[in-house]
Amino acid sequence: MIDLSSLEAWFVTGSQHLYGSETLKAVEQHSTTIARALSESSLIPVKIIAKPVMTSSESIQQLCLDANSSKNCIGLITWMHTFSPARMWIGGLRSLNKPYLHLHTQFNEELPWPTIDMSFMNLNQSAHGDREYGFIGARMRLPRKVVVGSWRDTSIHSEIAVWARAACAWHDAQHLKIARLGDNMRNVAVTEGDKVDAQIRLRYSVNGYGVGELVRFIHEVQDAEIERLTVEYDETYEVAESLRPNGNQRKALHEAARIELGLRHFLLESDSNAFTDTFEDLHGLAQLPGIAAQRLMADGYGFGAEGDWKTAALVRAMKVMSHGLNGGTSFMEDYTYHLKDGGQVLGAHMLEVCPSIADDKPSAEIHPLSIGGKGDPVRLVFTASSGRAVNASIVDIGNRFRLVVNRVNLMRPEQPLPKLPVARAIWVPEPNLKIAATTWIYAGGAHHTALSHALTPEHLQDFADMAGLECLMIDGNTNVADFVKELRWNDMYYHLASGI
Ligand code: MN
Repeated sequence: MIDLSSLEAWFVTGSQHLYGSETLKAVEQHSTTIARALSESSLIPVKIIAKPVMTSSESIQQLCLDANSSKNCIGLITWMHTFSPARMWIGGLRSLNKPYLHLHTQFNEELPWPTIDMSFMNLNQSAHGDREYGFIGARMRLPRKVVVGSWRDTSIHSEIAVWARAACAWHDAQHLKIARLGDNMRNVAVTEGDKVDAQIRLRYSVNGYGVGELVRFIHEVQDAEIERLTVEYDETYEVAESLRPNGNQRKALHEAARIELGLRHFLLESDSNAFTDTFEDLHGLAQLPGIAAQRLMADGYGFGAEGDWKTAALVRAMKVMSHGLNGGTSFMEDYTYHLKDGGQVLGAHMLEVCPSIADDKPSAEIHPLSIGGKGDPVRLVFTASSGRAVNASIVDIGNRFRLVVNRVNLMRPEQPLPKLPVARAIWVPEPNLKIAATTWIYAGGAHHTALSHALTPEHLQDFADMAGLECLMIDGNTNVADFVKELRWNDMYYHLASGI
């Protein structure tokens, strides 16, 4: 359901007519060579399409309008090979509504010391041409990513890839529909927010459905489909004794499969790539969707529990960003602590953790749920694999959306957890639990998060810049005093920046 290979970033080189046709021909050749190299980089998940060298404000304007209306274009990669007077970029950049990256590079890696002359100098002048172009981005206060270095260097490909992945998620958000089944849980504040504001700023739409609409799809599921899916469960997971073909709770597995199939049909029909549900509103459902939500997330759907549509959108964005990378991405909740040994977090949820983060084959189990008053739900139980990850939360802080990102290190639990009937992740936040939790709480970060092994803080920073999100990083360099100052300064900045 996620396909980044059909998406494209346009490689756009700027110049002008001052230097004559020979120079422009060389510029064109260099430009297509660089675009081809980037397109062939295994790190960059989208096609890189070379566009003609831009030498006039009319062609730039037209290119930006074409980019806006292109279904597959996620954004522009721009580079000023020679000097391209930036006034001619104003009209185009003003109308561009897709992200752009400013690649500050040079075709030649080395200075040709013994042979350098003025024609070399006039051809290879991005050192000042890109500064002229950078000025107009700064003067117009345009959000953009600046990447500096040799285009041959794989570390530059990595930086472009990070930006491209963020741009793919932003592209996805433009038409993302989030199906919301039931309201926010009880009187929870942090999962609330302004859905109209989210649609204006973050583009996705949040659409409410009565749970009865889902129930209709669940009732229409055919027995043969259920049979096929339960066989798939049997083959994919360590299925608990009682849920196996002759087990005394096999019927509950059938119900779980029926819910998964109904949900899939409902999401397809409503064209929704993310959803929320709540244990408080399950009229007509035999169980709270457990294994269903888990497996839908594994397929790339965004999910937020208890009506949490903002986290559902964030999980979807991170699923898109991380598509094809090693490591999983999941809805998560800071659940309980180990305060000894420097401090660890046990992250889990009632049921809904994505098996893409599992370190081993998950087991399909059935246990009672202490809340919700429905049948015992089937869920996948596993431990998250260890390694470095990011844990991110999005909140509506009133006049803006705030993204809080924490670098965390997942670890194997120090002891077995034989009585814990849910999937779990154990991590140590950077720089440590004390500072991470202090700053997180000052920032108003939620208990619900999206956790990813595959992404780095840079992916989320680039995404935040495109989406106009405030982004607060908590990592090895964080200290509380500076962080609290950043919160105050940001309040001032966003108050002024929003105008009236
Ligand atoms: Mn929760």
